[in-house]
Amino acid sequence: MNSSSPIAQKRCNPAEQRTCLRDVQRIVVKVGSSTISDGAHLNEAALDGLVHDLALVKQNGVEVILVTSGAIAAGWPQLGLKQRPNTLPHLQAAAAVGQIRLMAAYKDRFSNYGQRAASMLLTRDDFSNRERYTRMNDTMRALLHFGVIPIINENDTVAVDEIKVGDNDTLSAYVTNLAQAQLLVILSDQTGFYTADPRHAPNPELIHTVTTISDEIWQAAGAAGTTSGTGGMVTKLRAAEIVTNSGEMMVMAHGQEPLVVTRLLKGELLGTLFLPQSRISGRKRWIAYSRPPKGRLIVDNGARDALVQGGKSLLPAGIRRVEGNFDYSDTVSCFTENGVEFARGLVNYNAVILRNTLANIPKILKKSSVTAITTKSYIAITWSCSIDAVLSTV
Ligand code: GLU
Repeated sequence: MNSSSPIAQKRCNPAEQRTCLRDVQRIVVKVGSSTISDGAHLNEAALDGLVHDLALVKQNGVEVILVTSGAIAAGWPQLGLKQRPNTLPHLQAAAAVGQIRLMAAYKDRFSNYGQRAASMLLTRDDFSNRERYTRMNDTMRALLHFGVIPIINENDTVAVDEIKVGDNDTLSAYVTNLAQAQLLVILSDQTGFYTADPRHAPNPELIHTVTTISDEIWQAAGAAGTTSGTGGMVTKLRAAEIVTNSGEMMVMAHGQEPLVVTRLLKGELLGTLFLPQSRISGRKRWIAYSRPPKGRLIVDNGARDALVQGGKSLLPAGIRRVEGNFDYSDTVSCFTENGVEFARGLVNYNAVILRNTLANIPKILKKSSVTAITTKSYIAITWSCSIDAVLSTV
């Protein structure tokens, strides 16, 4: 836990830690297919309960963004199939049919509470491309300004492997970063995060608070999952890592718990709370988490220290190796020679030029900004220098 976190300093037991959830003003709630469907039909009662809960949260003055799965589950029986398809075109067709039903189900229910809902269908490209990211952000903020509840799903009809986020746990973490919401709540068929997979281990214990996502926590995650959705504990932990390393909170809780979000925001001890590390800016969140790195720079310890501790430029002498095929302004990862990723930044040279430069002349890499990363937590530093400055340093 970073010392800048007020929670770390002031609150020490799980019940007390929950009181910080009372201050949340903007929330992202992610609901999985297993909560709002039986895998083949939407679960009307579960949807009734969820919308009632979120309408109450909204009436209490908290801005709500919903990330929902369930399109494929709601769609495939409509195609006359006997079981959930497994080919991409059939899954995409099922999602196209199901998405309408899913949105209609939410719209009708929210309007019973006088609430308006809007649909946003996103792919990974919308997060990778800075301009689309900014436009998407503007749209979301406009919707919130008008008091509308954005309802988000991946655009499964166009998403192929290269451009898809792949699971809605990760998508919801991206959305939390985009919206700079203080809290992500992931609702699933699990009560929270356990010391071991509760479906297989004899006596697992529910962990009320996760302060740091340590190696032990990763080991406890195993690879849980259901047939109706694509997520599992691993994707939920990955979401927690993105959200908490950006400086926000995440809760995992059971989606069938009555009024679960309302109760969480009152500070009730439900599910598992993942505590935040120190906050990083919107741009650094984008660099660190919203677009997959296209290449790797393996650097020596001196260069690592200069970046992480000194907030300095990456000097050519410190770059040991260039891996991958990146272009100008792509995101690259910086790795130590021991294989630990510690920074991500935007490059001002493509991989070919950089390799040639490293091979032939005093080598230069200029980045506009960088987010430094230690093994499990991300530490933001600002790094900006001109080529001239680097040349003169060299
Ligand atoms: N986008 C998929 C759907 O709506 C779900 C993906 C997921 O469950 O993570 O069915």
